Amino acid sequence: MNAVAQIRQTFRPFFTPMLTLMTGGSDEQRSKNQNWFRLILRSQRKGRTSLPFFLGLTPTDFYWMAVGRRYRIHDELLQGIKSKDTQPVEDTRQQLLDMREDEWVEIRDLLVSHRAGLDNSEITMAGIVAAACLGGSHLWRDLGMPDRASLKDLLAGNFPSLVTLNDRDMKWKKFFYKQLCELGGGYVCRAPSCDVCSAYSDCFGPED
Ligand code: SF4
Repeated sequence: MNAVAQIRQTFRPFFTPMLTLMTGGSDEQRSKNQNWFRLILRSQRKGRTSLPFFLGLTPTDFYWMAVGRRYRIHDELLQGIKSKDTQPVEDTRQQLLDMREDEWVEIRDLLVSHRAGLDNSEITMAGIVAAACLGGSHLWRDLGMPDRASLKDLLAGNFPSLVTLNDRDMKWKKFFYKQLCELGGGYVCRAPSCDVCSAYSDCFGPED
């Protein structure tokens, strides 16, 4: 791990709680996000997501969402965790995420830059969505959500200006990577415009 990644790893656990102390937040927004969190966590525990055990969050951030003041997640969803710092031994999805941490950070930061700003749970949701972007299916499937419409609700509630930018209803993962491309990242499109691109059907169209 390089020095920058090491610093990120060191300070990530404190990022969200520190902001919480500084700014507080909206009860309604946090409650909505705790519901999304519970839905995604249930799917993960049933093996229906591409997410690691802690959903791509640090154990500290995971617990901040799972056992916060206003919401106590049912014990069955937390089984297997013996202490705050315990992580399952063979979490290959977490290992894959660690290998692609720079990519995870870029997507997470893109989402955070468009957050609604109502509550810091938006930052943790950005981390979960970014982790699911590293999976191999459609984003709503990798998050274990029931359908694409639910995903849009989650994104619109947390990152409204980013959803507005997707005015051609591009597939969400492709859209995020295209945003990174336009911001000067390394995810180069194959053509000067979508309309003349041979990969058009990869980026647009239904996500069944
Ligand atoms: S259709 Fe082609 S140009 Fe448009 S976002 Fe996809 S890869 Fe990039």
